[in-house]
Amino acid sequence: MLVTTEDLSLSAVAEVLSCFQPLQGLERQSFLSAPKLPRLLRAVPPASALCKTFAAAKVHGYRVAFSGPCRCEEFVCSYFDAMCEDLQLKSCDFEKLYLLHEALPSVYSLHTDSRLVLGSTFVRIQEYYESPDAQIRHHAFELDQYKDWYRKRHGKGFDYYLEWPGFNVPSWVLNDLRDGKVGCKLRPQEEALLKVWPSCGQYLIGSCEEDMETLQHEMAHGLYATNEAYREAVTQSLEDLPQGRWQVSRQRLLELGYADDPAILNDEIQAYMVEGKCFYEEGELDCPITGEVQAAIRRSFEDDGYMRIEEGGNPAAPASGSKGRKAHEHAKYHCNRTMINFGLSKQVPNKDSTARDHLANERTFLAWLRTGLALSGAGFGVIKFLPGVSTNLILGFFLIGVGICVLAFGALRYFDVMEALENGVFAIDTGVLASRSPPGMTNPFVALMTRS
Ligand SMILES: [Zn+2]
Repeated sequence: MLVTTEDLSLSAVAEVLSCFQPLQGLERQSFLSAPKLPRLLRAVPPASALCKTFAAAKVHGYRVAFSGPCRCEEFVCSYFDAMCEDLQLKSCDFEKLYLLHEALPSVYSLHTDSRLVLGSTFVRIQEYYESPDAQIRHHAFELDQYKDWYRKRHGKGFDYYLEWPGFNVPSWVLNDLRDGKVGCKLRPQEEALLKVWPSCGQYLIGSCEEDMETLQHEMAHGLYATNEAYREAVTQSLEDLPQGRWQVSRQRLLELGYADDPAILNDEIQAYMVEGKCFYEEGELDCPITGEVQAAIRRSFEDDGYMRIEEGGNPAAPASGSKGRKAHEHAKYHCNRTMINFGLSKQVPNKDSTARDHLANERTFLAWLRTGLALSGAGFGVIKFLPGVSTNLILGFFLIGVGICVLAFGALRYFDVMEALENGVFAIDTGVLASRSPPGMTNPFVALMTRS
């Protein structure tokens, strides 16, 4: 590896080189834990240190060059594998990094902080389960064989671990792994996985991201595989997707590297739709039919008791029966979501013009905000630059007062309209507040706003 620069700065060189500190004196115990590093970098720290080094080099205008065509991502993945081998890491080293819990009934979620640990754990079982290549899918293979295949197919180095944020496999794949059908020699990551995997598990999902989308995507796979009612509802919704639209989704998924198998593709389409993504044609931004199917699938996901978001943003209360249990188990995910949104946002199905209406409402609120601030600003201006005359002082305070009223009114109107939209009603002539006013009374602000 070669680091070059045109504008040499000693402090920059020191900063970049200091990133290599954790690489010194590296041994088996410290490779995966490195207690000296900040917590965020502790997930596979030496590899994280490499990422940090590359980032620092970029900021300071360095060019990090490798002998041969190699990118940073490939270098980090190769480095990770080489070090795992060099330090002879054992399954117990990886086991400590896994957190497994039942995310849905019989669906277990494996969480680990590092994408490298996660990707290297799942790579073989994920590809054994659904590789687009029939030579790999359901066949035994070694990791090096897969790496060769990956390089040839994608025309780039092996960056698999940093490429995918989430994984999912049914339990029979883990049984095959245990029976040596995936490959005769188990890697330490795979041994560790089999040690933590419970015999009652039906489906395994894995993620290391904090974002809800990845987790929801993988949970949708788990639900699709284990819950017949959900699978039927989703299959019915997907039947409403015209053949042409389904083909567009198929094409996009093939481009992403999925296998051309209708069962796998349907599973992926529904998982992406639960996540909130639809596949459109080139240059297309929206498609009402696809949008409706997506909303229906998302509703099925929520209606089944998962990720249920009740009025006021509270998780569904645990109730008797299986649905209640599921809802209860999902309270923690719900809490995460509420934390991320600070409890201020609420998720509703994006049906028909829902998103458009709410965004228009937001724009109207911003218009009121601007008007209020302009009036208050003018008031301050009058007081500051035309002092000494009492009428100016009165005018200034009057403008500030009107500005504050406008701001308050705009905020009230925003929440009123939002509520009205959620209830499916809207007074189109004089706005929501006017519709609440006594008959014959017209609010001047609303008249100004709706008739201009
Ligand atoms: Zn998927």
